[in-house]
Amino acid sequence: MAAGAEGTHVQQVVVVGAGIVGASVAFHVARTGRAVTVLERARPAAGATGKSFAWIGNDGDGSDGPAAALNDAAPGEWHRLEAELTDVRVRWSGSLSWTDDGSQPRTFGRSLERARVLHRSEVAALEPNLRTLPEQAIHFPGDGAVDPVAVTRALVRAARAHGARVIRTTAIALRRHDGRVTGVETAAGFLPSGDVVLAAGLDVPALVSPLGVELPVSASPAVLARFRASENLVRTLIATSGMEVRSGEGSALLAALACEGGATAEDLEASGRRALAWLTSAFHGGDEVALTSVDVGVRPIPVDGLPVVGRWPTVAGAYVVVMHPGVQLAPVVGRLVAEEVVHGTDAVELEDCRPARFTTGDRGRLPVRASGAGEAQVGEGGGDGVVVQQVEDQEPVQQHSAAGQPEVGKP
Ligand SMILES: Cc1cc2nc3c(=O)[nH]c(=O)nc-3n(C[C@H](O)[C@H](O)[C@H](O)COP(=O)(O)OP(=O)(O)OC[C@H]3O[C@@H](n4cnc5c(N)ncnc54)[C@H](O)[C@@H]3O)c2cc1C
Repeated sequence: MAAGAEGTHVQQVVVVGAGIVGASVAFHVARTGRAVTVLERARPAAGATGKSFAWIGNDGDGSDGPAAALNDAAPGEWHRLEAELTDVRVRWSGSLSWTDDGSQPRTFGRSLERARVLHRSEVAALEPNLRTLPEQAIHFPGDGAVDPVAVTRALVRAARAHGARVIRTTAIALRRHDGRVTGVETAAGFLPSGDVVLAAGLDVPALVSPLGVELPVSASPAVLARFRASENLVRTLIATSGMEVRSGEGSALLAALACEGGATAEDLEASGRRALAWLTSAFHGGDEVALTSVDVGVRPIPVDGLPVVGRWPTVAGAYVVVMHPGVQLAPVVGRLVAEEVVHGTDAVELEDCRPARFTTGDRGRLPVRASGAGEAQVGEGGGDGVVVQQVEDQEPVQQHSAAGQPEVGKP
């Protein structure tokens, strides 16, 4: 552990949260040689990441929005990561989308520059097991998907290989002195730090709230159903009938659905059965598909839809990273955040993503809370050392954090 009394200069970068975003930041910072400590309250990918459909290519919000450059860069950055880390694998299957009623196929607001409109016979060539072929479908051949848990673990392993430490504990608050972060109060004690990157998904707003501004991040539930099926039953990534379906490793098949109604066990089972019914009727061999699990995952989505990435404007050394779609953007954002934190630069690609938009009121949405105590020390009282408990990849899910908060990603 980096030693350092409060107020002294500590170089260590602390990353709070080992979802795919925090893991990517940790890897990209650690490979520069800078000391990194990751604080994770449960295990890598315990939050939204562990329930993700993990489609790479679909920006969802249109091709010309402020985050367009980031979304455009995403597939290329995933190719880079695959080349850098041998245990990161993307299934570059391409995606197909169509509507049931034969109307204009869905483009998800994406530019058709990288797509083709396919007709029945071309769809049949890509998906030979489909029983009923759509008249036309949109094909994005450059789309892919990952196993988000495997990738997160690979990033954590790679960060460790570059010297990073991963500590299992809950970050409770940032400690500040003279307008600068000096460390993190954790359930295991105080950890002195240089910059602190808050990549804790849905928990980022609670961690920045004592800094005087409410960060509006909505908790958006979505359903992930898993199936067992014969290998290659589904070959591309299909978006239709209100759901997204793709193959996973081996005999695994995944479907992502909107979370309609509630998230009770009955609701989830109903969603799983709806997806199963569609798979059974849509594919030759679909009657052998078996539903294996249904989960709800809660996606952290900034209310204006744009990633929130950058230094916290009112406190030096605090840096936030929260976004959707986080799997798609993890490599590019992880690399850019590392460059900004390590070299003190400002990436033009991130200029529309800055948290300052919520403090200056230029988007007119947010009340800036009076911080009251100004330089108040939040959560003081910890000792000066963290009791280190290294995080193992296979550790069971911790149901409740040390701070008593329900685990992120649970209904
Ligand atoms: C059903 C579903 C489908 C999706 N489909 C896609 C898709 O197709 N493509 C895509 O790109 N994205 C998709 N997403 C969204 C994507 O999964 C998220 O954007 C992404 O996983 C967010 O990653 P994260 O690292 O920011 O947050 P999380 O994965 O939530 O990670 C946050 C981590 O921080 C830890 N943590 C929280 N608070 C603390 C604390 N105080 N101290 C220490 N640790 C803490 C948590 O335990 C957790 O491990 C989907 C999500 C769901 C649920």
